[in-house]
Amino acid sequence: MSETFRALTIVDEEGKPKAGFQTLSLSDLPDHDVLVEVAFSTLNYKDGLAITGKGRIARRLPMVAGIDLAGTVRESRSDAWKPGDKVIVNGWGLSETEWGGYARFARVKPEWLVRLPDAFTAEQAMAIGTAGYTAALCVNALEDWGTIEPGSGEVLVTGAAGGVGSTAVSLLAAKGYRVTASTGRAETRDYLSSLGASALVDRASLSEKSGPLQKERWSGAVDSVGSTTLANLLAQTVYGGAVAACGLAGGADLPGTVLPHILRSVALLGVDSVMAPQAKRERAWALLAAHLDRKHLAAIARMEPLSALPQLAQDIVAGKIRGRVVIDVS
Ligand code: NDP
Repeated sequence: MSETFRALTIVDEEGKPKAGFQTLSLSDLPDHDVLVEVAFSTLNYKDGLAITGKGRIARRLPMVAGIDLAGTVRESRSDAWKPGDKVIVNGWGLSETEWGGYARFARVKPEWLVRLPDAFTAEQAMAIGTAGYTAALCVNALEDWGTIEPGSGEVLVTGAAGGVGSTAVSLLAAKGYRVTASTGRAETRDYLSSLGASALVDRASLSEKSGPLQKERWSGAVDSVGSTTLANLLAQTVYGGAVAACGLAGGADLPGTVLPHILRSVALLGVDSVMAPQAKRERAWALLAAHLDRKHLAAIARMEPLSALPQLAQDIVAGKIRGRVVIDVS
């Protein structure tokens, strides 16, 4: 194979990261053991930060951006994988320290790969992507905590119209939870109801600083917003409940107190997807395979070409993307 292909890269321009398109060949790729022909990637909030430069995601330059990829193994120096295998990669430093999925080819380490679940096509796997797989990690974290199960009370999802949020609403509703969706976009009401939310709250009602112990309301929550929203969620969680926190779309600070934890035994469960061990990844993908409604997935996702990424990146950082965007890298 001696092909050239287009990639979205971040390069150093006068000391600042700058995103643009570049033509690469296979010999430009890092010397990892498995060559994957990428069919699809996705757009996540972190990709938006990397492309717009609003967050310093790439820790070495030049960098092929894109934290997710799905495709087919073309060459392998590892016994674990052979040409023709359908695979996905989520995280593992892609777009941070390792070249990512916004290019038709990627060379990756064998241990980063997960076999594409039989239940999904490559396109569906990227409609889920890191955002959806993180939603599944959050649901597993809540259930592992031990006090949260369908019928145990209301579960809140913040940033509900976003990628993590949409998938979390759909998954929790499919499992039989009563889901309340918090959104700043009233126009997404019908969309969120169609995914299974039984009630909506305006995100503004959660983003003002309030008391350290408020009326107990949520048996559990999936939070992709952080900051005051997360502090309020913890203050509104019932005795013994838990909040799975994975995001910072509203800010990285946490302006709360220890009172919900020490007086109500509320747990703050941190969820990371990037370095999550394989066993957790496989459990998350199994949850998605078993419970994610395929019609919901189709409603959550849309397809865009690689060339649309600069604008899409601006949009996701501005909170304007609904659901998920699959990127066709071919
Ligand atoms: P999206 O942009 O798709 O969703 C974020 C949502 O948050 C928006 O749609 C919006 O929802 C809400 N939001 C945006 N800005 C604000 C604000 N200022 N205040 C309150 N709410 C806001 O992003 P993703 O779903 O891809 O990611 C969500 C978060 O989770 C990000 O911070 C991301 O970095 C993080 N994340 C972390 C992972 C991990 O491994 N821990 C993995 C994946 C994501 P609405 O319009 O409904 O209010």
